[in-house]
Amino acid sequence: MAEGGFDVPLKCSQEEYKHFVEPAMHEAQNSNFPSALDIVENGLNAHPASEGLMFLKAYFGYKIADTMSSELSSFPKVIQPLGNGALMVDGAMTSQLLGKFQEIVGILSEAEESINELLQVNPNSQEVVAFKGYIDSKKNQLGQESENMKATISNTPNIAGGFCVGCRKSISYDTQKVVFRKSSASQLEAWHLPCFQSKAKN
Ligand SMILES: [Zn+2]
Repeated sequence: MAEGGFDVPLKCSQEEYKHFVEPAMHEAQNSNFPSALDIVENGLNAHPASEGLMFLKAYFGYKIADTMSSELSSFPKVIQPLGNGALMVDGAMTSQLLGKFQEIVGILSEAEESINELLQVNPNSQEVVAFKGYIDSKKNQLGQESENMKATISNTPNIAGGFCVGCRKSISYDTQKVVFRKSSASQLEAWHLPCFQSKAKN
């Protein structure tokens, strides 16, 4: 059952193929993976034991996650050096990025559930084992990146304090643009971006 150069390595009835696999593959050929996944999930509602559909569910989930994570590379940089050791962190953007990471990890977890079900019935299928490896490594990589980012965000108030050195008002690290700079006493100072910029002008 090859279609568009893709082989579903597992059992799938004629009926499942005609009503779900073919239309899903058609969407996938146009890179419309969310629609392809919808079709496959509908198919699984009617044929919950279909191994071919389970595999495709994991495959399309992976493709969605992969597309979303490549889109993240065009995301504006959340951390930018401003020169002289000062760093600007865009809190709102960081929160958005963390939300995206979470969304992608959620999609990968669903794909993984499907693959785990398949592994129980096909413990020796190399395709299934290999595919589980792809999903796991992508999930680990995204999990690690978002953990690092979260750690940075939650640690900075402890290190730099909750107040702007310029205006002495409080800083909201997850919504505002904040500038960090080492002060002479080797401590970390935090500034609101506008406060830092107006200070630099004087
Ligand atoms: Zn300020």
